[in-house]
Amino acid sequence: MVTVFRLGHRIFRDKRVTTHLALVARAFGSAGIRIAGETDENIIKSVFKVVSEWGGDFSIEFLPYEDWTQFLEDWKQKKGKIVHLTMYGENIQDFQSNEQFKMLQSSREALKQLLVIVGGEKVPAKVFHYADWNIAVTNQPHSEVGSLAIFLEKLIPNSLEINFSNSKKKIKPSVEGKKTYFDESELYE
Ligand code: SAM
Repeated sequence: MVTVFRLGHRIFRDKRVTTHLALVARAFGSAGIRIAGETDENIIKSVFKVVSEWGGDFSIEFLPYEDWTQFLEDWKQKKGKIVHLTMYGENIQDFQSNEQFKMLQSSREALKQLLVIVGGEKVPAKVFHYADWNIAVTNQPHSEVGSLAIFLEKLIPNSLEINFSNSKKKIKPSVEGKKTYFDESELYE
């Protein structure tokens, strides 16, 4: 499945947004997230905690911010493809009707080789040139978390219905309130 690349992370300013990016990436079926910026042990810990309780084998790694170009060069060297989410890009609706999008969607291998970049405060112009596709989720400024969720929902088949392996906790969908359980037999509110 796809890997998400977060370009830019400052511990003090970005901790919540970067954590949410990791959680959205995992929940919608990505294999992992790579974060170029200040290494943040608290984010690693909280994501590992979610994975250990809620399952899956999502991975998270930081790299120094200045290594981002090398990371993208290496990705392309290994024949990987890159989507960059940006309000300046081609509309996602147009991308969805493109044959390349359908090809990506229909092959696990193609999805595995796809990197989805989301930016932070300032995105260097070079990112647009590394990207095979610059994709906009509306042409309005909003949030990396919002654009990532919508993009992954459209790209990854059945992304709203993923069953994670090895989960200790699951939610029993309910119209009444919170219902979670540790295994099929032990239900509590
Ligand atoms: N001002 C920044 C720049 O230099 O482009 C963007 C800041 S924005 C808060 C952070 C990230 O949110 C962007 O890099 C992009 O990945 C994502 N984003 C925001 N609006 C978007 C949109 N309409 N479509 C796709 N991605 C968007």
